[in-house]
Amino acid sequence: MKRYVGFLTALSLFMLILTGCNNVNQNTEEYSNKYKVVATTTMIADLVNTIGGEHVEVQGLMGPGIDPHLYKASAGDVTKMQNANIIFYNGIHLEGKMGDLLEDLEKTNIKTVAVAKDIDISDLIQSEDFEGNYDPHIWFDVSLWMKAVETVKESLIELDNEHKDYYEENAKNYIERLKNLDQYVVNEIEKIPEESRILVTAHDAFSYFGRAYKFEVKGLQGISTASEAGTSNVKELADFIVEKKIPAIFIESSVPRKNIEALQEAVKARGFNVEIGGELFSDSLGEPNTEAGTYEGTIKHNIDTIVNSFIE
Ligand SMILES: [Zn+2]
Repeated sequence: MKRYVGFLTALSLFMLILTGCNNVNQNTEEYSNKYKVVATTTMIADLVNTIGGEHVEVQGLMGPGIDPHLYKASAGDVTKMQNANIIFYNGIHLEGKMGDLLEDLEKTNIKTVAVAKDIDISDLIQSEDFEGNYDPHIWFDVSLWMKAVETVKESLIELDNEHKDYYEENAKNYIERLKNLDQYVVNEIEKIPEESRILVTAHDAFSYFGRAYKFEVKGLQGISTASEAGTSNVKELADFIVEKKIPAIFIESSVPRKNIEALQEAVKARGFNVEIGGELFSDSLGEPNTEAGTYEGTIKHNIDTIVNSFIE
C-alpha cells in the first residue's frame, strides 16, 4: 500500500513537472508567434482582434473619441508601424493626414492593407465636397463592413497561412453576427415612419447609413471635419429643421459639440425647439469595456439612441 501511494505521488509529481514545462513552452511560443498588427482606427482594431484572436497582437493608433480626419501620427506611432508585420487602415482618405506616411510604408516590406480596398467602386458614395473622391465612412452600412471582414481575413491568411482555418472560422462566425446586427438595425428603424427619418449630425459621416437604412442625412460639416462649418450651413440647416419639424439632432463623440449646440440655438431663435438626441459614435468606437466599446455595440448604441429620440 505504502509503495502504491509512493508510486502515485511520484507519478503526480512527474505529471506536474510535465504540465509545468508544457505551460512554459506554450507561453513562450504564444508570445513569439503572435503577429504584430497596427490598426489606425478603433473600428479596425476591433475587427482585426475579432478575426485574428489569439494569433495577433493589435495596437490601435487612435483611441476612442479621436477624429481620424485630423489625426497626425506621432513619432511613437511611426515606430509601432515600422515594427509591425502588417498595418490595417481604412483608406478612401479617411486618415487624411497620414496619406504620405502610409504611402512611404507601402514602399517598405511591411504589408499595408486598406480594409476598404475590395469594396466595389459602384458601392461607394461620391463625395460632394471633393470631386473624384469617395465617402470613407463605410462601416455604417453593416453589409459593406462585412466586405472589410473578408479583406482582413484574406490578409491574415496571406500573412499566416498556418492558421488559415482559425481565421476562416472566426470570420464566418463574425459575419453571422453582423447579419443579425444588420437585421436588428432594419427592425429598429421600422419603428420610425419613413417620412420622419431625417438624421442631422455634426459632420457627414452617416451617408452609407442613410442609403442602407432609408434615412435622409444632413451633416453640419462635410465628409471631412477638416472643413469648417460655415454660418451659412448653420442658417440653412436651422431653416430645414424648422420646416421639417425635426425632433432631435445629434452630437458625435469624435467632433466638438459646440457646432451642434450653435445649431440648436439657431433653431430656437426661429421659434422651434429641437432636442439634442444624444451622442452618436461616428468615427470612433466608445471606450473599451463599455456598451459601445465594440463595433457591434457602437452600431446598437447609435440605433437605440436615434430610435429613442424619434419615437418618444
Ligand atoms: Zn468622419
